[in-house]
Amino acid sequence: GVLVVDNARASRHAMIALLRRHNFITFAAQNAEQGIDILRSHSNIKLVIIDENISSMPGIQLVSELRKSYSEEDLGIIGILSDTSSGLSARFIKSGATDYLHKPYCHEEFFCRIMQNIERLENIETIRRVANSDYLTGLPNRRHFFTRVSAVQKVTPKSQSLGIIDIDHFKNINDTYGHDCGDYALKELAKLVAEYFEDHTAARFGGEEFCVYFSNTAPEETMQIMQDFRLAIANKVLTFEKQRISCTVSIGLTHNSKGGINAMIRLADEHLYKAKNSGRNQVISD
Ligand code: GH3
Ligand code: MG
Ligand code: MG
Repeated sequence: GVLVVDNARASRHAMIALLRRHNFITFAAQNAEQGIDILRSHSNIKLVIIDENISSMPGIQLVSELRKSYSEEDLGIIGILSDTSSGLSARFIKSGATDYLHKPYCHEEFFCRIMQNIERLENIETIRRVANSDYLTGLPNRRHFFTRVSAVQKVTPKSQSLGIIDIDHFKNINDTYGHDCGDYALKELAKLVAEYFEDHTAARFGGEEFCVYFSNTAPEETMQIMQDFRLAIANKVLTFEKQRISCTVSIGLTHNSKGGINAMIRLADEHLYKAKNSGRNQVISD
C-alpha cells in the first residue's frame, strides 16, 4: 500500500495513476490530517509520498509528525520537492524522510525511487525474520522467544506456565543413522511443535531442546497438551532413507511464575532432569 499526500489535485491523481499501473494499492489524502487518519486505519501502507506543499502544515512537519509513531524500519517516506527549493531535501531527510524527488520528475525516476524504498523495507523484513528464527527448523529462536514472552507479560497474564521439551537419547539417533538423519528428525519434530503449540509461544531453545510458554491457560490444560504432545511423538514413526526411526521426549513443566521467566526456565529444567532420571518419555510438573 502506498499513500500519496498532496493538496494539488492534478499531481496527486497523476501519482496515484502511475502507482496503480504498477499494481500498488493506493490511498490519497489532500491534507496532513487526512493522511494521518488513513495511515492509522490501514496497516498495509508501507510507503508515504508527501508533497512539500500540503495544506494545514508543511510537508516536512508531517514527516516529523509521522516519525513519532512509525519507524524507518516500518514505513518509507518520500518527499516531493519543487525544483526551486534549495536545502529542503536535506531538511526532509533530517526530519525522517527516507528519500526525496524533485519536480518535475520523469516516470522512470519516480519508479526507481519507489522500488528502492520498497526493496529496502523488504530487506529489513528478511533480516528480522532471519534474526528471529532458527535456521534448521524455521521455528522462532531463543531471542525471539524472550521478545514474545516480554510482550505477553506487559499485559499481565492471569496464569503462566513454561515447559521444556528434550528429545531422549538423541545422540543415539545421530550415532546410529548419521547427522543428516538427526537433522531430519529435528525438522519433523519441530513441525509437531509448531502444530501442537500454535496458540502459544514455542521456540527451538538449542540443540534438541524446545521451550513452550503458556499464558492465560489453566495449568491442568497445559499438562494435558504436553501429555498429548509426548504421546504423539512416542507414536510417530519417521522414515529416513528407508530406515524407520522413532523417539521419545521428556518434558519439565512449571506453573510457578513468581520469580519471572528465568526462574520458570530453571524450575522446568529441574523437572526435566527428574523426568530423565525417572525413565524418560514422561512429563513432570510442580
Ligand atoms: P538425553 O536423553 O539425556 O537428553 O540424551 P541425549 O543424547 O538427547 O542428550 P545429549 O545432550 O547427550 O546429546 C544431545 C545431542 O543432540 C548431541 C548433539 O550432537 C545433538 N544435536 C544438537 N543439535 C543438533 C542438530 O542441530 N542436529 C543434529 N543432527 N544433532 C544435534
Ligand atoms: Mg538436551
Ligand atoms: Mg536429549
